[in-house]
Amino acid sequence: MPPRTDSPPDLPELPDTAPRHPSWEAGCRALARPAWPLCRLVLLLYLTGPFDRVGDVVAALPDPVETDGPVYEDPGRILAPYLSILEAARMLKDPAAGKAAAPVVREDGSPVDALEGSIARIQQQVLEAELEDINARLCAPCACTLCCVGPGPAAVHDFFEIPLSEDELDRFDLPRVDTPASRAADPYEDPELVVDGRPFHRHPPAIYRWRHGWGLVLGRGARCPHLAPAGRCAVYPDRPDTCRRPQIFPVVLEPADPGRPGTRQVLRETLLAVLDCPYVRRLQDEIAAYGAACGLRVVFRRNKA
Ligand code: SF4
Ligand code: SF4
Repeated sequence: MPPRTDSPPDLPELPDTAPRHPSWEAGCRALARPAWPLCRLVLLLYLTGPFDRVGDVVAALPDPVETDGPVYEDPGRILAPYLSILEAARMLKDPAAGKAAAPVVREDGSPVDALEGSIARIQQQVLEAELEDINARLCAPCACTLCCVGPGPAAVHDFFEIPLSEDELDRFDLPRVDTPASRAADPYEDPELVVDGRPFHRHPPAIYRWRHGWGLVLGRGARCPHLAPAGRCAVYPDRPDTCRRPQIFPVVLEPADPGRPGTRQVLRETLLAVLDCPYVRRLQDEIAAYGAACGLRVVFRRNKA
């Protein structure tokens, strides 16, 4: 059973109107009918059957597809957003192609075989795509800006960091701190980085070059410069990757060394859900069921609070 939590005082409550909003209802329907069990079935049929393309399997599916869990009406429509990801399975019929992928290991360091590692890669991508959509649908009616502001006065942490890739930096017209000291530091370790005589998070929003890469730091009460006064993201279609995957996100695989993406990956088989978010607190049972249907361990945690 997921944990039950009361809302800490500085966390947003779900508005009474949210569960009646069409966007919320669509998000809940998608959460109750995860795409991965159907994708997994398609991959199994593709790998064991006489199919040239994953699309050929999809075209041959009955309608509806009944599984131990959800019933999938119109499976072709459900699978359409993930077909390009699933087509990567073509490499699984070519053993030489599988060897080119970065190795995957278990948490104890033992190797994962190439087939299981490749399927885990596909699962990570399918879930990222599906949960980006689910999160956006559930967030929209919440009238909440928690992801776009620094921690409140009662929060445990002094700041909130939004990791950024190199090509996302120019989307923010903010000061950058890139010094030998920042490059040697991690924002969450002691002693904390001091800039111009003050802890880094006591400064206005700025972008820091840390040991693990770039990150936008929002100190207590700070707002992302793209957060419009009415509470909407002014660059929503162009927002950074990190902003696309609050607050339920898959960690099927995780880079063993985040500073060197594309190298060894660790099989985590986990679904993380952040309890700071009002829809996560409301939908804990549904999120737990989604994770179980996808074969993932579900971890609920607090982030800012
Ligand atoms: S870029 Fe947009 S979504 Fe991301 S923190 Fe800023 S306002 Fe929020
Ligand atoms: S994802 Fe959750 S915590 Fe973030 S702004 Fe939306 S409702 Fe708030």
